[in-house]
Amino acid sequence: MPSPDLSDVVAEIAAEMAARPDRGQVATYIPELGRIDPNQFAIAVALRDGSVVCGGDCGTYFSIQSVSKVFTLTLALGLAGDRLWNRVGREPSGSRFNSIVQLEQERGIPRNPFINAGAIAVTDMILSGHQPREALGEILRLLQFLADDDGVHIDRAVAASEERTGFNNRALANFMKGFGVIENTVEYVLGVYFHHCAIAMTARQLAAAGSFLAHQGKNPATGHSVITAERARRINAIMLTCGHYDGSGEFAYRVGLPGKSGVGGGILAVVPGKASVAVWSPGLDAWGNSHLGRIALEMLTTRMGWSIFGAP
Ligand code: GLU
Repeated sequence: MPSPDLSDVVAEIAAEMAARPDRGQVATYIPELGRIDPNQFAIAVALRDGSVVCGGDCGTYFSIQSVSKVFTLTLALGLAGDRLWNRVGREPSGSRFNSIVQLEQERGIPRNPFINAGAIAVTDMILSGHQPREALGEILRLLQFLADDDGVHIDRAVAASEERTGFNNRALANFMKGFGVIENTVEYVLGVYFHHCAIAMTARQLAAAGSFLAHQGKNPATGHSVITAERARRINAIMLTCGHYDGSGEFAYRVGLPGKSGVGGGILAVVPGKASVAVWSPGLDAWGNSHLGRIALEMLTTRMGWSIFGAP
């Protein structure tokens, strides 16, 4: 059977998502995110030829939140290489995104780089030897470079909102510092962490920025080699097993792709060899992952036969 036309599928998904009454709940624990209109949806599919197929609110900036952790991991692996794995594990946690329970059992070593504790430890590694402003600049410039778009920016209001209310993250960082897992001053590490979570991008930019993961470490649109094929494959593996917190199994079961979600309602998903996909809808499900974003990706992989586990 011939594959359906991608543009038709994307248009159908955008129309169906616009009409659905179930939209999930926006995150309110970061007050600034609680103000976002849940009636928004975007899907962008970046292809090998550099083109991007878009549906819905593809040009609207949103807070990428934990999707930034894919890029901080990429940067930190570039700086520290496999030494990174002495400070962070790579096993699924099966716990909530901000859980502290396993940290005590595992002497301050976070289970993986995508739960909050792990991402804070990764941010600490990026910060070492730099001023916070420089470290943040490195992260932002990486995103601008990968998206090939200087419009990628930090939403200062979101960062300030999380700085005021990030008590859980402060607890995680201090707990790890107590075990000697964090090298730098906790408030500096958290400052960089809150600000990289507050990076704002459009779905189109995010799909383009993730493209190197779908094409063996090389961005096909710009021709730039970003990381080795081996490293891209391994980051994809961690996205598959850990990218949706304690909802990672459900995401693999339904969507069948490596993916990383954020509480801003964005998800970056990777179709190896084919495409990088960004979806955004601010309403979240019970696991803190985008409700319509996950449904949209399930529709996309089912209709296009794109699950890494085989066509339907
Ligand atoms: N900045 C958020 C936090 O640390 C990120 C969480 C997420 O996107 O899942 O709570």
